[in-house]
Amino acid sequence: MQNQAHVDSWYAATANLKLDLPPLQGAVVTDVCVIGAGYTGLSAAIHLRQLGYSVTVLEANKIGWGASGRNGGHVGTGQRLDQEQLEKWLGLDHARALWALGLEAVDTVCQLIEQHDIDCELKQGNLHVASKASDIASLPGEVEHLQKVYDYQQIRYVDAAELKQMTSARGFGGATLNSGCRHLHPLNYALGLARAALALGAQLHEGSRVLSYTEGEKVSVKTDRGEVRARFLVVACNGYLEKLEPRTAGHIMPINNYMLATEPLSEELARRLIRDDTSISDSRFVINYWKLSADNRLLFGGGESYSSRFPADLKGFVRKYMLRVYPELADTRIDYGWGGTLAITLKRMPDFGRLSPNTFYAHGYSGHGVPIATLAGKLLAEVISGTAERFDVMASVPPSRFPGGTLLRWPGLVAGMLFYKLRDSIG
Ligand SMILES: Cc1cc2nc3c(=O)[nH]c(=O)nc-3n(C[C@H](O)[C@H](O)[C@H](O)COP(=O)(O)OP(=O)(O)OC[C@H]3O[C@@H](n4cnc5c(N)ncnc54)[C@H](O)[C@@H]3O)c2cc1C
Repeated sequence: MQNQAHVDSWYAATANLKLDLPPLQGAVVTDVCVIGAGYTGLSAAIHLRQLGYSVTVLEANKIGWGASGRNGGHVGTGQRLDQEQLEKWLGLDHARALWALGLEAVDTVCQLIEQHDIDCELKQGNLHVASKASDIASLPGEVEHLQKVYDYQQIRYVDAAELKQMTSARGFGGATLNSGCRHLHPLNYALGLARAALALGAQLHEGSRVLSYTEGEKVSVKTDRGEVRARFLVVACNGYLEKLEPRTAGHIMPINNYMLATEPLSEELARRLIRDDTSISDSRFVINYWKLSADNRLLFGGGESYSSRFPADLKGFVRKYMLRVYPELADTRIDYGWGGTLAITLKRMPDFGRLSPNTFYAHGYSGHGVPIATLAGKLLAEVISGTAERFDVMASVPPSRFPGGTLLRWPGLVAGMLFYKLRDSIG
């Protein structure tokens, strides 16, 4: 379907910029063609323009229509995998380089917001809460590891007694408080990036689904009404890639994740739920994550599904996860429920790479894409301008293909996810 509107979410209802950009018409020649206008594509467009490249971005629907306009807005430090796992897998040097890039990703988000005056409710801090005894027991060691090995001092352990003062969330026996994390209004962040890219001279087209492309010294990218000829191509479609690029599709799995927004809460209730206005996420395999909006709504994310269909009653679907954490919200009205599709990889690390000397992609951020997709745009601009070193730190994390490739990856994934969900519920 062409040019769908944003989903009905609290984010769309509070979007502070209305963009109505024309579809691509006819033939265009540019330095770089970018497919997809989420954080990856928009950040690439900004950074490429800053390096002097002409850029045309083709978006099938609206700016920020994909996961970038629907997510939890949590901007976490580091990578999706924790450092100790990365060290075991890739060695300490590579793990250190990935940690540094993860911190730079958060800085890049903050700098873009500041430089381009993006109004997106940027706030600080994440409380990562644990419920299983083994998870609680491992928290002090994780904090100490980051402090000692990475000299990261913005994280501390929070014991059960202090946690009770910070949140009325039920079922958690310890936490880490990471003041290097941020949180924001995701769609307004995406729209602000688009406004910045336009101001820098990028050409952005909505309602311009790419149907196919051919590579060569010049790439040729076709939509139903136009064609872009470019020196470079960036594929930035993440969970919405579908069949456009079969060579990388098997590295990622599109999964659906869901959110709700409650009615606005009283100041007293809001402070009881999250005293310091941080974001909160839990240590379950299928993570629950939540934060408050500027008008004191609880924005709660929880639950996943792996088929192409969303549950019929999205508000009810997420509400049951919210009530496990906050039973006191049983009488609170739910105003919005929505879902989106993200891409995960088998190892939960993103997949960056080259398809040919002038065709690049980055995707599979596995739920950590607000910072890392923003960083990806910056690194894509660097590699196109001839500086491959930092792009290659990300690209050298080996991708694993889902067993069964694109056709048969579902049954394996669903069985795996169900196993971990069961393990969560056993505790
Ligand atoms: C419910 C939910 C909650 C999440 N919460 C968090 C969170 O709190 N923190 C975090 O870090 N991450 C979170 N994520 C993940 C994060 O949102 C994504 O990793 C990130 O937005 C990916 O950005 P992107 O630009 O790569 O992809 P997207 O934002 O998905 O953009 C891809 C775009 O490509 C377009 N496209 C696809 N095919 C074509 C084509 N053929 N032609 C033209 N355009 C095309 C799509 O229309 C889409 O707009 C969440 C995701 C979801 C769904």
